[in-house]
Amino acid sequence: MTVDANKETLGFQAEVKQLLHLMIHSLYSNKEIFLRELISNASDAADKLRFLSLSQADIMEGDGDLKIRIEFDEDNKTITITDNGIGMNRDDVISHLGTIAKSGTSEFLKNLTGDQKQDSQLIGQFGVGFYSAFVVADKVEVFTRKAGEPAENGVHWVSEGEGDFTVEQVNREGRGTSIVLHLREGEEEFADGWRLRSIVSKYSDHISLPIEMVKNELPSSDESEEEKTEDKAPEYEVVNKATALWTRSRNEIGDDEYKEFYKHISHDFEEPLAWSHNRVEGKQEYTSLLYVPKRAPFDLYQREASRGLKLYVQRVFIMDDADQFMPMYLRFMKGVLDSNDLPLNVSREILQSNKTVESIKNALTKRSLDMIRKLEPEDYKEFWKQFGQVLKEGPAEDYANKEKIAGLFRFATTYTGTAEQVVSLDDYIERMKEGQDKIYYITAENYNAAANSPHLEIFRKKGVEVVLMYDRIDEWMMGQLFDYKGKSFINIAKGDLDLGDIETEEDKKQQEEVEKTSEDLVKRLQEVLTAKVSEVRVSHRLTDSPACLVVGAYDMGAQMRQIMEAAGQKMPESKPTMEINPAHPLMERLNGELQEDRFEELAQIVFDQAALSEGRSLEDPAEYVKRINKLLMETLG
Ligand code: ADP
Repeated sequence: MTVDANKETLGFQAEVKQLLHLMIHSLYSNKEIFLRELISNASDAADKLRFLSLSQADIMEGDGDLKIRIEFDEDNKTITITDNGIGMNRDDVISHLGTIAKSGTSEFLKNLTGDQKQDSQLIGQFGVGFYSAFVVADKVEVFTRKAGEPAENGVHWVSEGEGDFTVEQVNREGRGTSIVLHLREGEEEFADGWRLRSIVSKYSDHISLPIEMVKNELPSSDESEEEKTEDKAPEYEVVNKATALWTRSRNEIGDDEYKEFYKHISHDFEEPLAWSHNRVEGKQEYTSLLYVPKRAPFDLYQREASRGLKLYVQRVFIMDDADQFMPMYLRFMKGVLDSNDLPLNVSREILQSNKTVESIKNALTKRSLDMIRKLEPEDYKEFWKQFGQVLKEGPAEDYANKEKIAGLFRFATTYTGTAEQVVSLDDYIERMKEGQDKIYYITAENYNAAANSPHLEIFRKKGVEVVLMYDRIDEWMMGQLFDYKGKSFINIAKGDLDLGDIETEEDKKQQEEVEKTSEDLVKRLQEVLTAKVSEVRVSHRLTDSPACLVVGAYDMGAQMRQIMEAAGQKMPESKPTMEINPAHPLMERLNGELQEDRFEELAQIVFDQAALSEGRSLEDPAEYVKRINKLLMETLG
């Protein structure tokens, strides 16, 4: 076999090409992070090998001294990062360095705007990884051999970061991976010992593996030229702290170190909003370091998205994305868990049904909810925008912490008068009226439909605040949440509205009178609308509108109905109740209408309008338009 026979040129997956292009153009202001990314990969590779060695002792090939080495060559303008971690075989190289396996990548890339500033933030949530090498290099070579495979199964990968790359089988004695960056013109400054050391200490001090560089030798004057050119093995020194960050004591760790560690474990580009580092001793022993991210990852709602914590047992890396330690509604939390109690050979299956895991999960859930609660108000606003919807899955999933979770919710209400979700349930309770013992809310398709709903009229008149809910998940969520701090929730568009002590005796008396005098009208309406409504009755809720529709206390609301229907579910027929406001001039006129067919016509219009004003869709819109047009023609003469 000739050398060329095993050399293959392959094209990058389209997504990689797009990402490469984007990265080169959006990371220009923060180029040095390429080193952090490559060191992070090298450290992961060492973690994976160490984990494998737990079950395969000979995999270390007698070289258990795992480390990373950074070399540079000023003359040739190269930087080489070498690890003796797990390495890659030919198939690994082709799939890991030629494609992006993450689900949803192409949708993510479609969302990019072309605006560099915005896109560079987006790319941050994606994680830049290996390809960031091309930000400073116009050619990248990878030499690698997978642990456990023979030396002749080494692989040499080369690419100039455009459309394609080559792979070739080569001999490689050392296990692991070397990445050689051929620096672009103008980026030569990176081939410098001081520069590299300072980047390492800025971004990679927390890496638990030793990172080595050639010892800085001061040029000594009495050294002769001959001695200098003599080939002596260079001496290396460790240039990072090289202890696992979470094993160090809290007061020795700076904020910047915590932040960089977050970026390493999360592959997030941005800084976290908050973190909490704790050592637990006693019945169980573990250390956790949890982070609240600033931005939601693009795949937050994708089923297959990776989530969970990085799991270590007695400081040995066990797995990424251990999702058994956090509930689903906190799936955005990132961090490390290092347990002293779990067995080293723990598997995902064992984690699935383990008492220790369950109790750690409970503790970490409480801790996470606490961290979120303690966020600064400005940070909280940002947090809520990013993760509020996910948190709303909480009451259904985590019954025990229901109240804690609900305490974190933020809503728009009639008090603030804007769509911004900033009111907590505690704020609401604080503003409750004398005699009020319920939390009133309404759900709708969007903010405007909620804020302008006729159901709010009586509450406006009485000055009672109503929570406006218009997120898709809200009605479903409220199906799981019945009360908060002893105050029950009342959907004001459902059932017979009980205003409790907010309604005065006088109100009630007046109501009874109106009911009596409207008996006739109610009966007539009921007759002509019998196909559409289950009942017509006099309303307590309305002051300005002629009529509104109310669903039964246990019926599905309009929002939930629409979601189910949109999902292709056939919903059982359920007729609403129509409530009327007999004091409204339109109702007074209607009452005076003696011509039966005209009465029916108007009644139909009133019903359709009540539906429209709640954001419902009409069963027969054309019929409605026809009726309105007829009326218009009459008034216009
Ligand atoms: P990520 O690290 O987010 O998975 P990267 O693009 O940085 O994405 O790397 C892609 C994959 O290539 C890694 O998941 C890993 O499997 C492999 N890889 C990268 N660098 C190394 C390395 N030094 N040793 C072994 N495998 C590596």
